Amino acid sequence: MTTPVYQNFINGHFLKNQSGDTFAVKNPATDEVIYHVEVADAFVQNAAIESAKQGFAAWSAMTPIERSRILLKAVEILRARNDELAKIEVLDTGKPWQEAECVDVQTGADVIEYFAGLAPAQVGQQQMVGEDFYYTRKEPLGICAGIGAWNYPLQIACWKSGPALAAGNALIFKPSEETPLGAIKLAEIFIEAGVPAGVFNVVQGAAEVGQWLTQSDDIEKVSFTGEVGTGKKVVASAAGSLKDVTMELGGKSPLLVFDDADISQAVSAAMLGNFYTQGEICTNCTRIYVHKNVYQQFIDELKTRTEQNIIAGDPMDPEVNLGALISKNHHDLVMGYIDKGINEGATLLTGGKALKPESAPNGYFVAPTVFTDCTDNMTIVKEEIFGPVMSVLVFDDEDDAIRRANDTHLGLAAGVFTKDIKRAHRVIHQLQAGICWINSYGNSPAEMPVGGYKQSGIGRENGIETLDHYTQTKSIYVGMTDIESPF
Ligand code: NDP
Repeated sequence: MTTPVYQNFINGHFLKNQSGDTFAVKNPATDEVIYHVEVADAFVQNAAIESAKQGFAAWSAMTPIERSRILLKAVEILRARNDELAKIEVLDTGKPWQEAECVDVQTGADVIEYFAGLAPAQVGQQQMVGEDFYYTRKEPLGICAGIGAWNYPLQIACWKSGPALAAGNALIFKPSEETPLGAIKLAEIFIEAGVPAGVFNVVQGAAEVGQWLTQSDDIEKVSFTGEVGTGKKVVASAAGSLKDVTMELGGKSPLLVFDDADISQAVSAAMLGNFYTQGEICTNCTRIYVHKNVYQQFIDELKTRTEQNIIAGDPMDPEVNLGALISKNHHDLVMGYIDKGINEGATLLTGGKALKPESAPNGYFVAPTVFTDCTDNMTIVKEEIFGPVMSVLVFDDEDDAIRRANDTHLGLAAGVFTKDIKRAHRVIHQLQAGICWINSYGNSPAEMPVGGYKQSGIGRENGIETLDHYTQTKSIYVGMTDIESPF
């Protein structure tokens, strides 16, 4: 059976490349090639820039409220096509349908809706300086680039295009080579909604296409989601043309469970923050610090619920709540970390093996895995694994737990479970992380800014401040009096 071949989406339509180069995309749950995609060669890249220039000219000339109206139409279409788009995400990523059906498209649409609403409200300043005055205008940057990871492909494309487009920019987006289809669908939806051609172009390919975006002199900003190591390369490359950057990178986030916490709730948070999307979430709380007084109760309940409540299998089965990892390579990487955990002396509480569910025997599944008896210097406690692997550690002193939680070069997220309201805030205020939860974990509404401390990122996505990252301030001084000149 022949599989479809998707071309790059440029200037409102599909554009055939000249090199003829393509790459294959596999369904991680079946190991089967589901379609091919053309690589963005030099011809496509030039076309992407040229059309973005024209798209930008038309789009930035519209009033914010006109742009808002069009973006809200796109939101409506996204929501109406939820199931079709969610299915694409399941087939591309291997994540469970029960997640994609209610999260991926919805949270993407929410962010476009949020910024569409906000854009007309963005105002400049005016101030008198003597008899003269100045005013400021919030102007778009121009052509921006978005580079996405594979775990939430459509959501990431929405989170980057929402503020970029609302502020009047054009965006050239490169999805991960593993998950290229969602962004194409978004591009079609923008066109259907009335976004001018060239405002949202999708270029396809691996690192070299990403590198081209980071180097191009025609691009003013790059918003990147991916690994810390790749992020450093992107920043270095973007420095060549002094591009603005937003970096949404990896984490190794701590969750602190105090002895007055609701333990069942804390177990729910730990499971969500390690096994949702089969552990492939940047904010996951992969280091769980549990107070020694409740440690046994915590791991007893965690083991029972992990072994009884998780169903791996064909991700399209609505009962399945643990999907396949993105690729064979990533599967092997995660299994390698599990081996390291065992070899370095951690105790396997549960899991620790590859799975071959009956309904998806060729998928890249890894059992939900919990290590106990972990120490702070173990590889599994220090490095981001990006799979369903949780490390549980014990503490008995608040200050010590905070010190250990902060002892990492990463700082994406953190959480605290306690019923003591003063302790909750005292502890959270000392944790070095950009996204924090108290008696909760993982929720990320459009209204809330998200981004990392330390090496987990630069800048923020979502929330009011993000619109500022997609505009630049022009100051205009107006002389009302005669110029005093010594010449
Ligand atoms: P990668 O860093 O491997 O890739 C991210 C994107 O960058 C992909 O589109 C990739 O292309 C592209 N890319 C690779 N090399 C370069 C380069 N030199 N220049 C420009 N672009 C390049 O990340 P993953 O896709 O593996 O995603 C997982 C990572 O993303 C995890 O570390 C996770 O924590 C992080 N992440 C962070 C989030 C956040 O908001 N903080 C959210 C989601 C994930 P290709 O894949 O096609 O090779």
